[in-house]
Parts: sequence; C-alpha cells; structure tokens
Amino acid sequence: MELQVAREWIVAASRIVGFTGAGISTESGIPDFRSPDGVWARNRIVDFQEFLASEEGRIEYWRQKLANWPAMRAARPNAGHYAFAELHEQGKLLALVTQNIEGLHQRSGLPSEMVYELHGTTTEAVCLSCGDRITSDEACRRVESGEKAPRCRLCGGLLKPATISFGQSMPIDVMEMARAAAENCDLLIAVGSSLVVEPAASIPRLAKRAGARLVIVNRERTPLDGMADLIVRGEIGTVLPAMVGPATRAG
Ligand code: NAD
Repeated sequence: MELQVAREWIVAASRIVGFTGAGISTESGIPDFRSPDGVWARNRIVDFQEFLASEEGRIEYWRQKLANWPAMRAARPNAGHYAFAELHEQGKLLALVTQNIEGLHQRSGLPSEMVYELHGTTTEAVCLSCGDRITSDEACRRVESGEKAPRCRLCGGLLKPATISFGQSMPIDVMEMARAAAENCDLLIAVGSSLVVEPAASIPRLAKRAGARLVIVNRERTPLDGMADLIVRGEIGTVLPAMVGPATRAG
C-alpha cells in the first residue's frame, strides 16, 4: 500500500530531492554509525580540535583512515543508489543531498554537481591551510610509506581527509545549495538516515515547511516520522527500486 502511494507521488512529482544517510550504503557493506558493529564501536573519535592541536591525534586519525580506506574504496553502489540514478534518468531529480562521504551516489551515475555532500568526502584529502586537494589513494600511500600524519607538499599545512569531523564547521556553500533545493522541491525522499544529526536533518524539515511532500524510507523510527506524509519501512535496496521503477518514467 505505502509502496503504491509512493510510486504515485513520484509519478506526479517533477522536482524531487533525495536526502540520504549511512543506511543507503549498508547494503554496499559500509556499516552505518549507530549499529553495534558501526563506526563508533570500533574507533576512538578524534575531533577537529584534537586534530588541529595534537600530532598524536593526527597520527591516530590517519591510522584509522588507512584502516578504513580499502573497504570504502572497494564498496560498490547498490540498488538504492541506482534507484536515485534512475530518478535522474527520468528527469525528476533536482538534487541529491547526502550525509555520506564515500561517493557511491556519484559512482552510481549521478553527475557530481547534483550531489551535495554535507559532510564532505573521504575520497580526497585537503590541506587545511591552502585548500589544495589530493586523492585519498595518494594520501594513504604516503602514510603507508612513513608519513604518519602527512603535510601539504605545496605549503606545509596540515593534510586532513576531506570529511567534516566532529567540531568542524559544515561547508556553508553546500548547505546553502541544499537549503535552496529543499525549498524548491515538490517531493523529498529521506532514505537511510536516523535524522538525528543536525543541521543535516533540518533539510527534510525545510522541504516540508516549504510545501513539499515528505516520504521517509527507513527500517527504524525517526524523530521526523510525525511530520512525514508517508513512511516506508523495509530494506532500502528492495523498496526504493520498487518505488521509482522504470514504469514511473514520465511520458
Ligand atoms: P545513522 O547511522 O544514524 O542512521 C542510519 C539509519 O539507516 C538507521 O536508522 C538504520 O536503521 C537505517 N538503515 C540501515 N541500513 C538500512 C537498510 N538496509 N534499509 C533500511 N534502513 C536501514 O546514519 P545517518 O543518519 O547518516 O547519520 C550518521 C552520520 O554518519 C552521518 O553524519 C554520516 O556522515 C556518517 N556516516 C557516513 C557513512 C557513509 O558515508 N556511508 C557511514 C557511516 C557514518
């Protein structure tokens, strides 16, 4: 019943915003944050202040990066990511706002300019002084060959994975683009997010306040369930393709 309603709303919509969290990538083998074997259970958190202040903190941060990068790098998009690529093919997707950092939406075929990464990307490292970027492959090679906390080859500044750490400011321009998309969409589909991380979770609220329909796809309850127009429970890789299948392509 819910799937049928969701399909009808997708057919009727013309400016859809996808909003995704770690749950869309669990079926690609990347653990989410809050499950028992999730990221928090396995790693000590080095926040942004510690990264800036302490060489020991930076070494620990890069140690964790080196340990996690091969699995992130090897992960492939799953049916949930491809469902959003299908919505793009149908000409219905305005933007894809994601809290995820692994780049799987882009690898599923979405143009990178449509993907607003609120928490940055783990596929690159950035110099905190001059902003120069290198690939994570290159950064990890340098850590492996002895630079335990690598520095920028251009200016000597601190190199950090280009993700947003606890205590680090969100990218203002990306957040602004996400807000604008939320205010202009007619349907926002929030997928695989516990919707507790702020300010990211303000994006679905904003869309709803601006008059869009809000559909939440998640296996667990979220704090925004009460304001959603529709909640679809189930495994994302199964229910999302059923919602956006090719039969919904606009004629
Ligand atoms: P979260 O871990 O808080 O919530 C994920 C939600 O998805 C949970 O409610 C869970 O029940 C649900 N879920 C997981 N797999 C599912 C499936 N197959 N089908 C249906 N539901 C499923 O994630 P969040 O809201 O994105 O917040 C966590 C933070 O962690 C974000 O800031 C994000 O940047 C970061 N993070 C990102 C990744 C990634 O890039 N893949 C991975 C871990 C954490």
